[in-house]
Amino acid sequence: MSENSLPTSANLRLRNSILPQALATTAKHQTLMAVVFICFPTLKEINTRRGYETGDWALDQATRKISEFARTDECLFRINGAKLVLILPSLENEAIMEMVLARITDRLSTPYEIGTTSLFMPPKIGAGYTDGLNVGSEDLLCATETALNTARKSSRNWQAEKAIPASQDPLRDFQSELKNAIEQDKLTLSFQPQVDLRTGKCVGFEALTRWQHLNTFISPDIFIPYAERSELIHQITNWTLHNALRQLKELEAQCPDGSALRVSLNISGRCLENDLLPRSIKNALGIWGIEPERLILELTETAFIEDLKSAAHACNQLKQELGVGISLDDFGLGYSGLEILQHVDANELKIDRRFVSHVCTDERSLRIVKGLVLIAKSLGMRVVAEGIETEEIVTVLHQMSAQVGQGYLFSKPLADHEAVAWLDENRHKCNV
Ligand code: C2E
Ligand code: MG
Ligand code: MG
Repeated sequence: MSENSLPTSANLRLRNSILPQALATTAKHQTLMAVVFICFPTLKEINTRRGYETGDWALDQATRKISEFARTDECLFRINGAKLVLILPSLENEAIMEMVLARITDRLSTPYEIGTTSLFMPPKIGAGYTDGLNVGSEDLLCATETALNTARKSSRNWQAEKAIPASQDPLRDFQSELKNAIEQDKLTLSFQPQVDLRTGKCVGFEALTRWQHLNTFISPDIFIPYAERSELIHQITNWTLHNALRQLKELEAQCPDGSALRVSLNISGRCLENDLLPRSIKNALGIWGIEPERLILELTETAFIEDLKSAAHACNQLKQELGVGISLDDFGLGYSGLEILQHVDANELKIDRRFVSHVCTDERSLRIVKGLVLIAKSLGMRVVAEGIETEEIVTVLHQMSAQVGQGYLFSKPLADHEAVAWLDENRHKCNV
């Protein structure tokens, strides 16, 4: 077995040399081959809590464990600092591959003894596999990424995905069009006002991303999940961050005391794993001259499904180190809401519209919303009620002392120039 810790050119070597050779051999010998990505969701927390030396040591231990039972023709190395890549070049069939993946998972799920303590670093594993016919390196790597992303989101530690040629994969067309849209600046932001329910004054906006594609707007509910399956989500988040802060500056100019307005951004759970996120946020705040507490990062419960403690830790650090606000979006829809509240020191609870819209017609929804308002208050969090469409709902929410509302009653999401005009028209209600 060859074991390398490849430098920056690792990705290129993998794409241009290692994979093409392995694919040719696989096709010739009529076997299967797999590219396996192994990552460790708890590594970030280990690095932060116990230091990078301990994290590196644990990664070395993981590499050693795999090396111990890998065959001589199998190739193992590290890319992007913390991801292990294993090439399995001659597998007899899918069942054998699955057995190997299950064995790797078992071996990596046992704790590492360090001094008198144990370190747990369970893996998430994605494998792309092929018989080498009609697929290229990119197809195989795409299948591996997809498998890893599926594994990350599920309770299972490993996932395998058969590679298919780009021409047969509509998803890939969509992703490359989205990539072009980002590069050609075809994304836009809409701004939906958030209103103080006691005074009717605007307190801020939620920035929502739009993609204009062939004369129609594609909903973020459709394209964000595609972006999350690749690195595109990081580009979108960075683009949103800069454009929302730039627009906040313009909105500020329209409002006598616009410096009190906040802007809320939706952050995908995958972005919390990105080590570069805190620095990007800090840079953007500096460039646009916005105080950190005016930027609110909205996270839905899905961001916490895979690894609650690591995601909570990342959120708490963003809040403590940068001073930005954290909001729990669509609250009530997920499965671990209260546990999230136990770990995340959030500033804001956004109650999902599926509860809010029924407070006047359904007694149980009313009681649930009342309970959520009480919980938020006891934890010192601001309550934002989403999806308000009628005055009656405002009255009920006001009686419960929910502070902020957002919904079509106040305004639909607006293009940037419309948001400026809306603010101008509502100037008498502006937060001054
Ligand atoms: P969200 O963050 O919960 O945003 C609120 C969604 O509810 C928006 O849909 C908004 O248009 C809609 N909405 C607001 N008020 C009302 C109302 O009174 N009634 C009804 N029926 N709907 C209302 P939109 O813009 O389609 O966004 C959908 C979701 O896409 C967002 O849900 C958010 O999770 C995600 N999203 C949007 N932009 C981004 C982004 O830049 N990054 C990420 N990661 N996710 C985004
Ligand atoms: Mg949101
Ligand atoms: Mg929401």
